[in-house]
Amino acid sequence: PEELAQGLSIILKVFPEAKGFIAIEENKPDAIEIMTKAAEKYSNIEVVTLKTKYPQGSEKHLIYAVSGREVPSGKLPANAGCIVDNVDTVVAINRAVALDRPLMRRIVTFTGDAVANPGNYEIRIGMNIGEFIEKVGGFKEEPGKIIAGGPMMGPCLYSTDVPFVKTSSALLCLTKASCVLPEEMNCIRCGKCIEACPMGLMPTVLNKLSLEKDYAGFCNNDGLDCIECGSCSFVCPAKRHLAQTLRITKRTAMGLKRAGKI
Ligand code: SF4
Ligand code: SF4
Repeated sequence: PEELAQGLSIILKVFPEAKGFIAIEENKPDAIEIMTKAAEKYSNIEVVTLKTKYPQGSEKHLIYAVSGREVPSGKLPANAGCIVDNVDTVVAINRAVALDRPLMRRIVTFTGDAVANPGNYEIRIGMNIGEFIEKVGGFKEEPGKIIAGGPMMGPCLYSTDVPFVKTSSALLCLTKASCVLPEEMNCIRCGKCIEACPMGLMPTVLNKLSLEKDYAGFCNNDGLDCIECGSCSFVCPAKRHLAQTLRITKRTAMGLKRAGKI
């Protein structure tokens, strides 16, 4: 906690007029109490308690929740006068500046119903993921999927013979039974995906445009604003693969846009 508060105070030295906020969701009272105490001695740092909800970790949502400012479509947090850093980055800044130590380690959450010994582990960046899994007890059941990151947004690993990198945060290992994809059915026009979308998009329309490979239409309907949170897929009663198709289309559309083809 002290390292985090000190790291934030170092960042604030670069922006003397700015104020630093440490945002914590209300379902973590211990963290709120500990961080409030750690930040006490810094007049320009405040701990703010946020409602617990998903998604909230994306920069745009976090900025809105803390400051009420909106980042315009296609723009960066700096356009709203804000910078968002995650906890690990701030601690790494403190270690680099105050202790002259480069970023060599990460805290990684190893969890899921296939895991024998779930927990938070401190790993060295560059360590082989397969070796790490073996070292901490391996699996109690062969996993059907190993997800690098959270359950809603993390990509699947094809192989564990890869290293941890500086952005590694979690390994979620699910049993085969837990990761069976339900069969996709026709859209019943219920509108639940539209209600669920935190970016105010129309996932059902974007899904149709994706399947038609209408990249210009996808961009015109603000598909590039999709933060790939997965909320639309989660609520869809027809089990449409909404976020999955949007994610792929977004990549292609961004490439075409950059090349000036749409
Ligand atoms: S994944 Fe779905 S719910 Fe999330 S931002 Fe994209 S369209 Fe909206
Ligand atoms: S939630 Fe699913 S079924 Fe309902 S409108 Fe969206 S895509 Fe269609």
